[in-house]
Amino acid sequence: MQNYIETRHKQFLTDFQTIVNIDSSSDNKGGIERVARFFEKRFNNIGLDTKVLFLGKDKVPCLYAEHKQENKPLKKKSDIMFLGHMDTVFSFGEVAKRPFSIKENKAFGPGVCDMKGGLLVVLHVLETLKHEGILDSLSVCVAFNGDEEIGSDSSKNWIMSTAKKSLRTFVFEPCRPGYRFVLQRKGGGNFRVIVKGQKAHAGADPEKGINAVVELAHQIVEINKLNQNDMETTAQVTVVAGGDKVNIIPSRAEASVDVRILKLQEKKRIETFFNTIQDRSCLKGSKIIVQGNIKRPPMESGALTQKLWKLIRSTGQKINLPMESISTGGCSDGNYTSAAGTPTIDGMGIVGANSHREDEYAELDSIDNMVLLVSKVCESIAIV
Ligand SMILES: [Zn+2]
Repeated sequence: MQNYIETRHKQFLTDFQTIVNIDSSSDNKGGIERVARFFEKRFNNIGLDTKVLFLGKDKVPCLYAEHKQENKPLKKKSDIMFLGHMDTVFSFGEVAKRPFSIKENKAFGPGVCDMKGGLLVVLHVLETLKHEGILDSLSVCVAFNGDEEIGSDSSKNWIMSTAKKSLRTFVFEPCRPGYRFVLQRKGGGNFRVIVKGQKAHAGADPEKGINAVVELAHQIVEINKLNQNDMETTAQVTVVAGGDKVNIIPSRAEASVDVRILKLQEKKRIETFFNTIQDRSCLKGSKIIVQGNIKRPPMESGALTQKLWKLIRSTGQKINLPMESISTGGCSDGNYTSAAGTPTIDGMGIVGANSHREDEYAELDSIDNMVLLVSKVCESIAIV
């Protein structure tokens, strides 16, 4: 297997250049579809059932491929879901400005590590498994969406339902330098609390007013109590505004709150707090309006995820890959697959850094290592 992967290193680089050099920002549907068509052809070549879907009212191009085991009763769930996104954060024209390039042992170009390199790891793993005769012992599915960088609104439900039909999900976001994989991601969302009161002269007749700033101040103290160290929940009031002039009782005040949670159970506590805030107003006649929700659930690391991580790490040790796991505040679509109840490991893509920046890079040495690692993990899953 290792030899085969090494002989295909050049092919990987050719593929890398091809897909990095397709502009595919989230608003560039044509570009995203071109990326999808590239993979469609290659997945078809190894016998996967592949289709390009256009999801949501925005018709976001997404790619679905699956491989069912031949001559075997259909499994209820696929063994592995391979998840990735084809969109990048870089606008049309970025490729012309700085096309795919290689300098020493790094590759550069828009989306090179976030996450076109990861998409190619998926392709080359499946091609390797096909070549080695392992693919037929596995039931796998591939889901590549085209709107991750803008929140996956059109593909979220599709990703979650695909995850529910899978025993485990591998997400091919970049692996952190030093082969650090992501087992936990915080979820979160923003809330906006708007208080409406009543204007009045601050000196002549303050009793006729309802001070929106005072009401908001009370609520901010309560919001601050949502912070829970042991749960690693944070709720931070980050922006506050209110009042017009020093001699007028303010009739309007508002605050923005950044909330992050590590445990899914915290979603309910936080949302209930905000949805019932009006019931706890302090000043008679004040009105409190709340906007927002916990948009992304956390990617939790439960017992099954830990078991899967053990398998990956021990496979890595066998091929002399020192590996670590980390927890991060940033979100990915792994948050959704985890919330769907499917054990999820993220960071299975190419090793790289500086995502969303012009100096984004991918480590070329990690190509063969990651293809080999993931192929070996799939082989162990096929044997079980
Ligand atoms: Zn990404």
